[in-house]
Parts: sequence; C-alpha cells; structure tokens
Amino acid sequence: VNVVVAVDGTSGSGKSSTCRAVADRLGLRYLDTGAQYRAITWWMLREGVDVHDAEAVAARAGEPVLVSGTDPLAPSITVDGVDVSVEIRSDEVNGAVSPVSAVPAVRSRLVDLQRALIGTGGIVVEGRDIGSVVWPQAELKVYLTADPAARAARRALENGGADLTATQESLLARDKIDSGRAVAPLTMADGAVHVDSTDLTLDEVVELVVGLVME
Ligand code: C5P
Repeated sequence: VNVVVAVDGTSGSGKSSTCRAVADRLGLRYLDTGAQYRAITWWMLREGVDVHDAEAVAARAGEPVLVSGTDPLAPSITVDGVDVSVEIRSDEVNGAVSPVSAVPAVRSRLVDLQRALIGTGGIVVEGRDIGSVVWPQAELKVYLTADPAARAARRALENGGADLTATQESLLARDKIDSGRAVAPLTMADGAVHVDSTDLTLDEVVELVVGLVME
C-alpha cells in the first residue's frame, strides 16, 4: 500500500507505538512530528532563547537544520547533524515544547518539512494537526485518545517508572495548551475515525488501524 495515514491525538494516547507498528506492518515510512517540535525546542533551550518570548523564538526558528529518519523500527531526529532522540524526552523539553509549538513561524517551518517528506508517499504521520492542517487529503485519518489516567500510566512506564501524578499533570498541562492555542489547535479532523485506546491493548489498536487502512 502506498498511502498516507494521519494519526492525531493527545500526549500519551499511544500514538508513537501504534504508528510505528502500523508502518512496520504495512511497509510504510514513519514520521513523528512531535519529535520535530521537541527538537526545535531543545535547540532553543540550548541557545538560551526565552521560550516564552514568541518573538524571540520566531526570530530564530529558521536556524537549526532538522532531519527526521523515517524507519519505523529506528526513528531518529538530528539537529545540525547531532542525534537528539534521547535529549528531546527530558522534563525541560516537556515543559517548553507547548509554548514553542504555538509560535506560527515554528509551525510553518516544520509543516513545510513535513509536507516535503509526506509528498514522496507511503507514510504514517503522527502529530496534533496532521489531518486538519498538514495533510487533510490523507487516505486515512485517525484521532487517537485515551483517558488521562491510562495515558499517564503508559508515559510513566516509558520513562522508566516516573512519578504517576507528576506525569499526569505534565500531560494535562500540555493538552490544555495544545487544545486551546490559536494556531492549529488539537481537534478531530473532518473525516477522522475516533479510536479510544483506553481499554485496548497496543496490538488491538494496531489491528484496528491496519484494518481501517485495508478497507
Ligand atoms: O507528540 P508529542 O507529545 O511528542 O508532542 C510534543 C508537543 O509538540 C505537543 O505537546 C505539542 O505541543 C507539539 N506538537 C504540535 N503539533 C504536532 C506535534 C506536536 O504542536 N503536529
């Protein structure tokens, strides 16, 4: 199959694991757009840019060179040639990524990168605005959600047993900003299929999405 699958949803809804497995099953590439927003945020923090100063962020948004690896079994992201896959998952980046992502100059830069990659075909793309803004013509759009407690439990496990309450607070804080912002707020795109993963295993969600692609 040579299709574009757009998967949007809240933090910790299981997007990454689902998208990687679906891409692997169908022989498609994989793009994690959240990793791109995280990488540009990591770079802003390293450069000492005040991430709450939207003008300062916008002024420098064009500088870092970002490259996303699209192998679903070994996703990677580099900034100016340096792999930052681990660094972009830090608490510091978690706390700064939402304000950076709300800056229009950051979004237009990353959306251009995303469209260039998607345009070459055959890819599963995860994010917040893929079905609504980046690629509304996707053959399949999925809106993936789960209850906050389930999401926090998954994310805490991924992060090696991090504190549950703190993890849930951090997720909910990001959801609130991501859904409430003026540019590209997280919403269910027109024509998207809503999948609630709260009571499903990863395998069940993957089966469901693969089935939807095959329909
Ligand atoms: O998906 P992940 O949790 O890694 O995304 C990190 C942050 O990047 C989100 O909280 C959101 O602020 C931003 N993001 C976005 N648009 C996307 C993907 C991520 O604004 N398409």
